Amino acid sequence: MSIGENLLDIQNNIPKHVSLVAVSKTKPTSDILEAYEAGQRIFGENKIQEMAGKYDELPKDISWHMIGHLQRNKVKYMAHFVDLIHGVDSLKTLKEINKQAARHRRTIACLLQVKIATETTKFGIPPNQITEILDSEEFKSLENIQIKGFMGMASFTQDDATIQTEFKLLKTLYDQYAPTHNFDTLSMGMSGDYSLAISCGSNMVRVGSAIFGHRNKI
Ligand SMILES: *Cc1c(COP(=O)(O)O)cnc(C)c1O
Repeated sequence: MSIGENLLDIQNNIPKHVSLVAVSKTKPTSDILEAYEAGQRIFGENKIQEMAGKYDELPKDISWHMIGHLQRNKVKYMAHFVDLIHGVDSLKTLKEINKQAARHRRTIACLLQVKIATETTKFGIPPNQITEILDSEEFKSLENIQIKGFMGMASFTQDDATIQTEFKLLKTLYDQYAPTHNFDTLSMGMSGDYSLAISCGSNMVRVGSAIFGHRNKI
């Protein structure tokens, strides 16, 4: 199937209130344009410089999301155009994003990446440290960022029960913080588990290989 057909298939599979981020990491701009022609406007990348290069080349009404783990010294390369940063997992990183956003007189929307997987390889803030960050004076002084919700990745496993438990944990945390912090975004679900994620309350899914085909190397 073509990229356009894959997109249509997924769009028909997800409810209207769920945003689809097309994860185009490692894929050429020609693939992104194909998705763009099919109507897709939100694209996700996991390397800042790769995303900045694609931003330069592609139509300017694309909304770019950074979904990967951030290297603080590279935040400056995307601060002028990034629309949502999903993978923020420390106050230190938030401070750097705030600083670079201020230089461009922007407010940059961010999601806190919460560690829900039991595997040790996944990044993220442990659930019991969320309050510590959100309630800190340092965080409250950051005027050029806006936290819009949480992002999470489930364990790499075939066991749906484990994945569901992890997604439900993140949804519970989201419901706990959303009303008092004006959250509206819960980013969870990828090619293999987006339906399950949506049934657990996700309203933003990050789908790569199901749209663009398999990647050779990440
Ligand atoms: C690569 C990636 C995705 C997309 O993964 P697929 O399995 O190809 O859909 C989603 N989220 C993050 C954080 C990623 O790095």
